Amino acid sequence: MDFELTESQQNVRQLVHWLAKERIRPLSLQADRDHAWPNAFLLELKQMGVSQSASSANEGGADGPKQTSRSAVIGAEEMAWGDASLILTLPGPGLGGPPVRMTGTPEQKERFFAPFAKKDEVHWGAYALTEPAAGSDVAGIRTTAKKDGDAYVINGTKCYITNGARADWVVVFATVDPSKGRAGHRAFVVEKGTPGFSVGKIEEKMGLRASETAELVLEECRVPVDNLLGGEALYEKSDGFKTAMKTFDNTRPLVAAMAVGIGRAAFERARDFAKEAYVLSRPIPRYTSIRAMLGRMERRLEAARLLTWKAAAMADEGIPNTKEASMCKAFAAEVAQQVTIDAIEVMGAAGNHADAFVEKWFRDVKVYDIFEGTGQIQRIVIAKRLFETIRSF
Ligand SMILES: Cc1cc2nc3c(=O)[nH]c(=O)nc-3n(C[C@H](O)[C@H](O)[C@H](O)COP(=O)(O)OP(=O)(O)OC[C@H]3O[C@@H](n4cnc5c(N)ncnc54)[C@H](O)[C@@H]3O)c2cc1C
Repeated sequence: MDFELTESQQNVRQLVHWLAKERIRPLSLQADRDHAWPNAFLLELKQMGVSQSASSANEGGADGPKQTSRSAVIGAEEMAWGDASLILTLPGPGLGGPPVRMTGTPEQKERFFAPFAKKDEVHWGAYALTEPAAGSDVAGIRTTAKKDGDAYVINGTKCYITNGARADWVVVFATVDPSKGRAGHRAFVVEKGTPGFSVGKIEEKMGLRASETAELVLEECRVPVDNLLGGEALYEKSDGFKTAMKTFDNTRPLVAAMAVGIGRAAFERARDFAKEAYVLSRPIPRYTSIRAMLGRMERRLEAARLLTWKAAAMADEGIPNTKEASMCKAFAAEVAQQVTIDAIEVMGAAGNHADAFVEKWFRDVKVYDIFEGTGQIQRIVIAKRLFETIRSF
């Protein structure tokens, strides 16, 4: 693997970093307090050409210009350095994008991605897998879909759905036959305004407060057969479940990159604080333990970044990367959490202050070990691959 960034990757890094520093950071604390990013700012970013495509890989077309996974993780790290909740809030198909892109029919891709191409409007998509009784255990979803003529009737509740309330459409996972386990799973695109589809509560969170997280309720919700993602043929095996999982191979390196971005922000702040303290005659940089802590923070962040780049490079080469995607996600989330704690320790009371950013990053970063599969689940995925390899000897 080549660690040199290409010219275009360097450009992505510089451009997104400029944006993160000059435009995003200055608004970050207020957005956290308001629990929202102003729509006018989101529209302005979109008109500047900044959309989710700055931080997600895609093949081009209506959902954004063509971008590799490698460029996407570079963009995601820089953007999260500015503010991680903004990435989740940028207009675009969000987590709903990969399943539509990977398994949608050409007609579905055209139809569902079309709104995002409108220059003067902001639109969102979302992805609804989690339920009150099925988080990590995604195979245990209880939302049901019953075929009735030219529609499926969906009943169930989804929770913790990013951009769920504002989305034009949501990829909803449901089962047509709970006794079939994963083989019974189907992915539907449920459009806003469909009778029986409503938004429940908006979740109050510890971190990423400016990102909307909603409960969605489906009651006798009739979804046209045309909105079954990929059409009936796709589900002859157990591809509904595979659709859900494939999304994660694509997005876990991005989530890892965001965690690295938050961790790097905290590390840089603590490092600069220590340097400044020295100038002000405080002895902080002379303490061996603080120097060792800063060294470990930087070292572990670099290791997390390299793991992330590897998983992204494999995706670009079409090499199966399930294990690597889980490795980088688990490791980066763990490292970034520890780095934000260490940053507060280095800064003392100043790191605990609500205006110091580090306090916010400490709250924001926790979720990176929860969504898109908790750390425990990533470790299970890695171990499963390990034993598969052993069996093949
Ligand atoms: C901010 C935010 C945004 C989110 N956005 C979305 C979204 O857009 N779409 C969506 O579908 N979901 C979303 N989620 C939900 C998220 O994916 C789930 O929270 C996550 O999968 C964990 O599920 P859970 O919270 O039910 O925890 P649980 O699965 O109940 O886990 C609780 C604890 O048990 C552990 N555990 C569970 N199973 C095992 C096991 N087999 N072995 C060992 N330990 C285990 C877990 O690691 C965890 O520590 C979001 C969550 C948050 C917080």
